[in-house]
Amino acid sequence: MKYIYLVGASGSIGTQTLDVIKQNPNDFKVVGLSLGRDLKLAKEIIEEFKPEIVCFREKNDLKLSYNPIIVYGDSGLLEIASYHKYDNELFVNALVGIAGLNPTVYAIKSRKNIALANKETLVVAGDIIKSLIKEYNVMLTPIDSEHSAILECLTGEDKADVKKLIITASGGSFRDKTREQLKGVSKDQALNHPNWKMGSKITIDSATMMNKGFEVIEAHYLFDIPYEKISTILHKESIVHSMVEYNDGVIKAAIGSADMRTPIAYALRYPSHSKLNSKPLSLIGLNLSFEELSHDRFPCLSYAYQAAKKGGCYLAVLNASNEAAVWLFLNDYIEFLDIEKIIYDEISNPKYSKIEYNLENVLSLSTKLINEIKERYIK
Ligand code: MG
Repeated sequence: MKYIYLVGASGSIGTQTLDVIKQNPNDFKVVGLSLGRDLKLAKEIIEEFKPEIVCFREKNDLKLSYNPIIVYGDSGLLEIASYHKYDNELFVNALVGIAGLNPTVYAIKSRKNIALANKETLVVAGDIIKSLIKEYNVMLTPIDSEHSAILECLTGEDKADVKKLIITASGGSFRDKTREQLKGVSKDQALNHPNWKMGSKITIDSATMMNKGFEVIEAHYLFDIPYEKISTILHKESIVHSMVEYNDGVIKAAIGSADMRTPIAYALRYPSHSKLNSKPLSLIGLNLSFEELSHDRFPCLSYAYQAAKKGGCYLAVLNASNEAAVWLFLNDYIEFLDIEKIIYDEISNPKYSKIEYNLENVLSLSTKLINEIKERYIK
């Protein structure tokens, strides 16, 4: 039995995680949950899973049939991360944004294993998280179709034999548009992803390809593979979730239908596979295509490699400028193509090289930069 703490429970990954847990009641027991602003959904989830500790965004007068420990806001997330009662605890981080970083740190320090959907944790603080994982001897498994596929392909293998990781990209909602055609595209068009049903932030990140850039950085930290050996490829069908090429020419791929619950289930029970009513993949008549993923067409991908090369706080700058820009786009302050301009300006600024890389600095720089960029455009 694994004891689960799930933060971001009412979001897209959160509700799908609960579905996986529901289908495997003998393997998992929910102990802690954090929920969003939708109190009706929050109540349904709490009454179904009966966690011992619950975190809400803010105070409310929700009536429950029992008395769990109730905590609130960012400090409440840290209380859930630090709550410790059982031997086999797993902290599932499904928060969106930089708010997800500190809870991961606290969960590691209370010796919970981590299943990570929050991208910012590794993008912004990869080196810090890696040394904490070593220090506290916990395991981190990724909740992302690409990294889950790579984990699948690497399990049982020697990393010295790896020639390269090949991360697939569906191309996002604007994959068939030229750069010229991207001028003036709307929020609704951007939010209409052809293959995956996801939250709005990540759907925009897919359209700009920043999401793939983040995944390259995460793969570097998750699997200890140098950036030169991490490549990306356009694969519109989202059937091949990623691949690993070995020195002898073998390419291993993990394939399946586009269902996020599959990588969630693997992260929860790695290295075992769970029972799941996922959509079966029919192999008969399956057509798979691969194309080059152009860095000229998708400059955000190249910005991610550039920021990774600079290292230190530049990864926090990459993430914060993107987080602010996507928020501005979703709230109608800027055009779609302004997102990449904002990011490029920030990662090209030499001033960030003077900031020392540590947890405190990446957190304060992130918060400050996100607010600063938002204010610049709101005025
Ligand atoms: Mg992904």
